[in-house]
Amino acid sequence: MTFQEFNLNEKIEEALIEKSYINATPIQEKVIPLVLQEDDIIARAQTGSGKTAAFVLPILNHYLLNEKEGKAKIRTLVLAPTRELTLQIADTFKTLGSKLEKELKIVSVIGGKSIGDQLLDIQKGCDIVVATPGRLLDIIDKKQINLENLEFFVLDEADKMLDLGFAEELELILKQLPEIRQNLLFSATYPQKMKEIASLITKNAIEVSIQNEEPTVELIKQRAIKVNVENRNPLLQHLIKTNEWEQVLVFMANNRAADNIAAKFRKYGFKADSFHGDLIQEDREFTLKEFKEKKIKILFSSDIAARGLDIDNISCIINFDLPRSPADYIHRIGRSGRAGRKGLAISFITLENSEHFKLIEKRANIKLEKEEIEDFELIGTPLLKEKGKEPVKGKRKSKKDKLREQSLNKLS
Ligand code: AMP
Repeated sequence: MTFQEFNLNEKIEEALIEKSYINATPIQEKVIPLVLQEDDIIARAQTGSGKTAAFVLPILNHYLLNEKEGKAKIRTLVLAPTRELTLQIADTFKTLGSKLEKELKIVSVIGGKSIGDQLLDIQKGCDIVVATPGRLLDIIDKKQINLENLEFFVLDEADKMLDLGFAEELELILKQLPEIRQNLLFSATYPQKMKEIASLITKNAIEVSIQNEEPTVELIKQRAIKVNVENRNPLLQHLIKTNEWEQVLVFMANNRAADNIAAKFRKYGFKADSFHGDLIQEDREFTLKEFKEKKIKILFSSDIAARGLDIDNISCIINFDLPRSPADYIHRIGRSGRAGRKGLAISFITLENSEHFKLIEKRANIKLEKEEIEDFELIGTPLLKEKGKEPVKGKRKSKKDKLREQSLNKLS
């Protein structure tokens, strides 16, 4: 289905042409008409499916059909779980709205940046606020934001929002919103808790899901290479040198490991850097920008890069260290193979993690052939799982889980 069939305003069509968006993705095909006819929706959609444009386009169209005179008022509030996702959404509003005669004012409300500047931008008058819950609540507490004129409330990556423990914040924010509004909720999964929240937010919502729920993951070729722990670094260099990958995203177990290996790769002469939650916001944005502009070729990252980030054209994802859970595995490999492109994801399987990978395979419903690369063959026998020890995340939160949660909360 082409975008022309939605009869969007020509200014929006111009922006779509400039972005070379010709055909709507499956989620856009379903969501756009429903938003245009003013329905509430609950959409099951993953990052990479084109879900951002699925809500941005009809909202922009609504602004064009219902122009308002005078100082701009907040008519749309988008909540997202992480700062990076928030900035990406604001950016999509800006690019797809770039041809509008009256420029829309979009404010990103996120932690790690000056609250004073954000308050000023809000007070000057703005049309759209894209926010993470924590900072938005700070501003609500200061009574510096008026949401009475809200027409659209969008909750993006709602399941991740709950995973990160934002349920309470969400309920507080909902109390600030006017009763009558159009609600658009996007979530990759739909657990029971999500259903409860969805019923609080939406009214007579139409549920939308695309038949193939993981369309992007299916386009990703997944490989598993057996290698000894100490050989992972030379193997990575070998793979980068022998494959014509333009850009590689390498996942590491923790922030320090990402910093250390990035420094080593720079010494070897690669354009490499690290990306994780301990970096200050400006550094995070700068590194991402450099990676997007291909000034950095190899990015060593913690799991924060797996969450919702949209980086085009990543040739290959490497799991240098395995993720803890099957869900994280899917998030990570989903950074490649975006919007219908082919992707590649390689996991390094060591003696120590082979049992853990078996569990990931089982729970993610995959079975990969374990390859070996000449000169890097695995030596030794895999360590068997200790009886009774569960390497994949259990229900009860471990100390490590709690620390991890805290560091993820720092992202908002
Ligand atoms: P999202 O799922 O919103 O993060 O989008 C994933 C990627 O798909 C982004 O890089 C978008 O720019 C791109 N994209 C979204 N819609 C389309 C489309 N209809 N055609 C081509 N690319 C698209």
